[in-house]
Amino acid sequence: MSDDADIEPCNWCGEPVADPLSRTVRVTVDRSEIDSQRLCPECFADWIDRYETEMRSDDADESADPGPTPVDDDTDIIVD
Ligand SMILES: [Zn+2]
Repeated sequence: MSDDADIEPCNWCGEPVADPLSRTVRVTVDRSEIDSQRLCPECFADWIDRYETEMRSDDADESADPGPTPVDDDTDIIVD
């Protein structure tokens, strides 16, 4: 077995990331997986920032939409 077997490219920047440094993020909404990515630590931090920003802008964009839905309760971020 080679160490290379444990190294896979980051889904964002394409840099090879070793297992101990990698992060796999899975976003599930209402038990349906909508996003799953393997990211290096830098991209992982960016991803979290972007996710939180998008969640906030969603709120702002849909301010005119009647009937607010508590999406936060149904959203899970799973980090392995
Ligand atoms: Zn990366």
